[in-house]
Amino acid sequence: MADYDLAIIGGGLNGVSLARDAAGRGLRVILFEQGDLGSAASSATPRLIHGDLSVLERRGFWRVRRALAERRIWLRIAPHLVRPMRFAIPAHSEERPPWLLRAGLYVYDCLTNRGGLPPSSTLDITHHPVGDALKRPFGMAFEYSDCVVDDSRLVVLTALDAAERGAAIRTGARCIRADRTDTWRLAVVDRGIRRTITSRALANAAGGWTAMVADTVLRQQQAPMAAMQMSQIVVPKLFEPDTVYVFQNNDGRLIFARPFERDFTLIGMVTRAFTGDPAIVAMPSADVSYLCDAASRYFRERVAPADVVRTVSGVNLTLASARGRDGTTLFHARRRKAPLITMVGGDVTTSRLRAERAVTKLTPFYPMSRPWTAGAALPGGDFAWDRFDHQVDLARDRWRFLSEPEAHRLVGAYGSRLPAVLGEAKSRDELGPAFGPELTAAEVRYLMAHEWARFPEDVLWRRSKLGLTMPAADRDALAAFMANVM
Ligand SMILES: Cc1cc2nc3c(=O)[nH]c(=O)nc-3n(C[C@H](O)[C@H](O)[C@H](O)COP(=O)(O)OP(=O)(O)OC[C@H]3O[C@@H](n4cnc5c(N)ncnc54)[C@H](O)[C@@H]3O)c2cc1C
Repeated sequence: MADYDLAIIGGGLNGVSLARDAAGRGLRVILFEQGDLGSAASSATPRLIHGDLSVLERRGFWRVRRALAERRIWLRIAPHLVRPMRFAIPAHSEERPPWLLRAGLYVYDCLTNRGGLPPSSTLDITHHPVGDALKRPFGMAFEYSDCVVDDSRLVVLTALDAAERGAAIRTGARCIRADRTDTWRLAVVDRGIRRTITSRALANAAGGWTAMVADTVLRQQQAPMAAMQMSQIVVPKLFEPDTVYVFQNNDGRLIFARPFERDFTLIGMVTRAFTGDPAIVAMPSADVSYLCDAASRYFRERVAPADVVRTVSGVNLTLASARGRDGTTLFHARRRKAPLITMVGGDVTTSRLRAERAVTKLTPFYPMSRPWTAGAALPGGDFAWDRFDHQVDLARDRWRFLSEPEAHRLVGAYGSRLPAVLGEAKSRDELGPAFGPELTAAEVRYLMAHEWARFPEDVLWRRSKLGLTMPAADRDALAAFMANVM
């Protein structure tokens, strides 16, 4: 008998979503991630949970409807990570005249039950905070509801849920060979130690490495795939309102600018064909300038490449025959050949659904329970999305030393599991040494013990974004502390 029912290569959003779904349906699951969870494309997404207006524009009504239905599910199962926001589109473009935008947003509103989110509306931004940061000529904007998400924490908490339902999650474990008979036999280098496991089915969810893994690890024929790079920039905060701006750039592309980690603005996104090693992905300076110019066309404050504090880039593959953001799931099984699932690309919004459909393809092979992930909260997400502020108030009542922004960050990261991080502490000192103004030893220990954090980058860029503000000396202290705990 094989050691596992499903082995998964890749700990990005696709891999962990497969692991969560399959583990909850009773399969014995193991996932191998060569680096840290979510360390590749899944922490470089636009961080939006949305129906996507650009899809509506291409008359993808059913796709938008399906994504909006997923948006409701995310708000229900991950109210700490997924936050409703108002999105504002200044109206000006010849290409998309105001009547077209108004009609489009009306359809967007009608395609789903909004589940308590406010409908779209028209704003006179000459006298509205949304207009304050914008250049004068934009007199009118349309506002609508969608959501933002913390993508890398979504990966980690999905993995945590999978683990709590029995999946084995191995980070720092690279799959180097997989032999296929009626089962899979995998060779893995797991933190320097070579081990072999067997599994009845295998999922290749290696993101930008999927074709390389198919070719060199599985040695299986693979449909031709194209690599695409997506990039965004982070600049110091450009505006006050809790709004995502959607701009119609003069080349017709939609560019967004959203609040990011309190003091910053995230601007995205540019996509381009990619060649090379997905592990070495850098944002080309032409793309940085493109996003700065696009933002400068709208914001009063000029955005220059010198203002960019961080670039965020990721690579993923799409089927060469069908470039798009829908993602692709391929399923291959034959007599005496163990099943193989290949899952690449796709957006964050529909990741849960794609994993559900992929795992369902295994039903002829094993008995398993019905799809369940739409109805079960991710760890810490067992409260209603419109009670987020109440959760923040509860946290400040219980840990009186927390400032409002700190409590907001902690509830956004851990939700109702915050007591597991802060315990019964009555003062900040009881949380141990501090690294920068916010990170405490208690939080780092929790992340190392429960969320697979091993190195400072895992804490500073994926379990949080505190790397944006942490002074170099504190990073060094954090590295020394983590090395000691390990
Ligand atoms: C052009 C483009 C545009 C996109 N636009 C959007 C968008 O608008 N909205 C949106 O939400 N999403 C978007 N995405 C999707 C998003 O970025 C990711 O595709 C999604 O998060 C799923 O990622 P993944 O799990 O497939 O890959 P990744 O997150 O890259 O994960 C793959 C993992 O596999 C691991 N791995 C590789 N080889 C091995 C091995 N041999 N052993 C062990 N581990 C291995 C890697 O280390 C990596 O962590 C876009 C993607 C592309 C390409």
